[in-house]
Amino acid sequence: MWINDPRYSRQIRFAPLGEEGQARIRGSRVAIVGCGALGSVQAEILTRAGVGRVRLIDRDFVEFSNLQRQFLFDESDARAGLPKAAAAARRLSKINAGVEIEPAIADLTAANAADLLGDVDLILDGTDNFETRYLINDVAVSRNVAWIYGAAVGSYGLKFAVAPGRTACFRCVYPDPPEGVQPTCETAGVLGPITATIAALQAADALKILAGAAVSARLTTVDVWSGEIRQLEAPAIDPHCECCGARRFSYLDGSRRATISLCGRNAVQVHERERPIDLQELANHLRPVGEVRANEYAVRVVLDLYEMTIFPDGRAIIKGTDDLSVARSLYARYVGS
Ligand SMILES: [Zn+2]
Repeated sequence: MWINDPRYSRQIRFAPLGEEGQARIRGSRVAIVGCGALGSVQAEILTRAGVGRVRLIDRDFVEFSNLQRQFLFDESDARAGLPKAAAAARRLSKINAGVEIEPAIADLTAANAADLLGDVDLILDGTDNFETRYLINDVAVSRNVAWIYGAAVGSYGLKFAVAPGRTACFRCVYPDPPEGVQPTCETAGVLGPITATIAALQAADALKILAGAAVSARLTTVDVWSGEIRQLEAPAIDPHCECCGARRFSYLDGSRRATISLCGRNAVQVHERERPIDLQELANHLRPVGEVRANEYAVRVVLDLYEMTIFPDGRAIIKGTDDLSVARSLYARYVGS
């Protein structure tokens, strides 16, 4: 009987959980969207904690630049260029064979969201872009399922749990993506301790929610370099929120679906961003990552295998791939949402 499994003894002895909390955790299915720095740590904690089923959704492959902070992966995964979902599943099944790991090598979109998220009790955010978070928020609010937002860049990160009906939703807090060019982990760097900290806070909220305990509606921010940790006031529920107020799920029903298309041979056009972009600012962000050429019409950056040209309306042409999810991933990493 799993309840007598010594591996859960310390967790069961923790009074707020007990056998009942552990049984609830055991009977749950969670989805982790994005299996990078945040998702790999969330997945390891929840697998060790004995969550019944853990679904891992990720579109990327393991690279050497991931190993500094993505705890589940090793050099052999990077050398083999394994999909993160598959590499993570293999490692997690060795950590706890009693947990059903469900890897999905996929780009979460409005088209597959019902399949990938329609049967889970909780969703954890391990993504790197606002577009996917708005989609997760639409799924979670429409299904009345909680999800836990997390983000980190540099030495700073934040965490916020969305419990539909009880807390503000993601669009109450961020009705639109942030203005201006945002730093990304590729352009501004990121430290392993901040992603691990944010992921651990998300995993703690996950255990509380799965066990049936109330989760804090406050927004937590952490900077592991300055040492500052803050608890902000719980964001207010916006009665006019398009998502949880008007219950219009425009990211899920496809009316705001990202536009992405093949564009000639071995090139993809991405036009996800609905606002113009400051090319000079973007060029400055991209200089550390590759050779950049910029003029008033476009910014071009040459990466290892790809060349990306970004236009003032936010549109980009990515050469070197005909895989839409690779292009979308590169756009999220280098240009941001
Ligand atoms: Zn809302």
